[in-house]
Amino acid sequence: MRRHLIAAGAGWLLTVSCTHGKAATSEESFSSSPVSAPTPTPEATGRGGAAATVDVRATSAAIEILKGGGNAVDAAVAAAGVLGATDLYSCGIGGGGFMVIYRAEDQRVITVEHREMAPRASSRALFYSEGTPIPFPEVMTSGVSTGVPGMVQGWEVALSRYGTRGLAEVLQPAIRVAEQGFEVDQTFFEQTSRNAERFKLFSSSAQLFLPAAGQPAPVGSTFRNPDLAKTYRLVAKDGSRAFYRGEIARAIVETVAHPPVAPGAGHTVRPGVMTLSDLADYEARIREPVKSTYRGYTLYGMGAPSSGGIAVELALNLLEGYAPSALGRVDFLHRYLEASRLAFADRTAYVADPEFVEVPVAGLLSKDYAAERRKAISATKAAPGEVPAGNPFAFQKDPSPLRAAAGPSSAPMLAALAPSPLDIPNRETTHITTSDQAGNVVAYTCSIEYEGGNGMVVPGYGFLLNNELTDFDVPPKADVPHANTPEPGKRPRSSMSPTLVLKDGAPVFALGSPGGSSIITTVLQTLVNHLDLGMPVLEAVAAPRVSQRNLPDGTSQAEPGFIASPEGVALQAKGHVFTDVGPIGALTGLRFHPDGTVTAVAEPQRRGGGSAMVVEPVQRPGN
Ligand code: GLU
Repeated sequence: MRRHLIAAGAGWLLTVSCTHGKAATSEESFSSSPVSAPTPTPEATGRGGAAATVDVRATSAAIEILKGGGNAVDAAVAAAGVLGATDLYSCGIGGGGFMVIYRAEDQRVITVEHREMAPRASSRALFYSEGTPIPFPEVMTSGVSTGVPGMVQGWEVALSRYGTRGLAEVLQPAIRVAEQGFEVDQTFFEQTSRNAERFKLFSSSAQLFLPAAGQPAPVGSTFRNPDLAKTYRLVAKDGSRAFYRGEIARAIVETVAHPPVAPGAGHTVRPGVMTLSDLADYEARIREPVKSTYRGYTLYGMGAPSSGGIAVELALNLLEGYAPSALGRVDFLHRYLEASRLAFADRTAYVADPEFVEVPVAGLLSKDYAAERRKAISATKAAPGEVPAGNPFAFQKDPSPLRAAAGPSSAPMLAALAPSPLDIPNRETTHITTSDQAGNVVAYTCSIEYEGGNGMVVPGYGFLLNNELTDFDVPPKADVPHANTPEPGKRPRSSMSPTLVLKDGAPVFALGSPGGSSIITTVLQTLVNHLDLGMPVLEAVAAPRVSQRNLPDGTSQAEPGFIASPEGVALQAKGHVFTDVGPIGALTGLRFHPDGTVTAVAEPQRRGGGSAMVVEPVQRPGN
């Protein structure tokens, strides 16, 4: 099975001829002959497997893998490969991700953590110059913020342990899309335009993304990336060795150490400290999921170094104390926002790489801790500003007496820091959800951090490097202790929240989203919309969003549709202050029904809208 190549049934993906791996030129990456793809739809119901992503080509690739007998893991990696070509400003082999897998044969939930890692030569002083923090824009577009990418290792580990196909097979759709190109749409054009100034700094990025006299390829043109096709071929042939030890590794290290600054860019770009050994030593991790219950459902999410699963489950534990039917919608949403605020206080204080820091997961997710924390929620008024973290150590199964007694206020390790200056709610990262005939399910979120990553295309290889190390915290001075500061080999805290919801041992919902730390609230709000407020699943995904993340000024970020809604207006009367930040998130998910059918859903509007598909469509009312 493992060695089969994709059947010619890969449909539209096979319709255009191939040109084999030579270096891209401006003319090759920008042509006027568009390649067709199916019209995306945000919802599809059926059997035999399903997929939902932000991009119709990626969803199509997943479905074709499923139709060819591949499982949900194979399909998720195939989709991720395609997204590395079509959504390359958000994700790709220069970055990392978190995959949550439900394995039907033994009803186990497994997570494959392949987060980027700080190089061994990193230290707490990584983001400081002469004792003060380096200005954020300099860090963002630099080699300093680039972590050792985890993607290819993650794919290989997931496929070899839980898949049925190899990289050589599942990367074929991605190779074709990279080589044959895809039609530039408005979203891609805007993403390129927003980052054009950064891309101009680097010869390799300008050549690929600004081919028309320094301008982005226009809407309707074809974007090709033969260098990426070449890179994918190397990985397809030699697996992760090609990436972590071969010519690709050398090119990554060279790019980080000597950023390919364009002649005359007039800008200094800070190099990073990544070495070939950092790449050769990188390991993806199989980790326990974090698990909790909510009103009869069982939730599984991504544990540390992501804060996603812990924050979502903690907020739901808090909310479980309130019956939506007994409260009006406004009173329930008020508590929802306050629960989110408290969950963020704890997530920010306590979650970091568990190989470096004791993360009190059992305490944070205990129902007794939630009961204690709930006392901080006023029935009538929004908290006026930032709330402090609680003390989950007292609720650990085996609490250390000292820490349990001390609590966070006397523990400088746990200082909360200001959020990252550029936490833009829907521009980065991507989420893939897949399932198969056998009942396996995958929720997979991956990222290169900011839109356009660190801005540098690895010359000759067609992919952007991440700037994921900006997810570390930067206290005012390097010697101020904090759980989430850089250390050699440490992975920065994430907010990615691939989530599975089960009932009586069977999956009912799988979901995830992009959006920086608002990923957590997008997943949370969608769960609440669907499970508590009874919205059909697509409505739950499309509904206007609000994101309470315990910001220092106490405000919630929100979409205009939420602020203007009757609930939004009534919440303001309770002291909630909303900041309009435009669209938040771009969620995809799968809803499993008792009759064995599944409804795939993708964001209908935000970020240009996504694509949901199933292997065998059926008509089914009431999703
Ligand atoms: N770096 C973010 C995280 O791991 C994801 C990127 C984003 O969406 O901002 O949470």
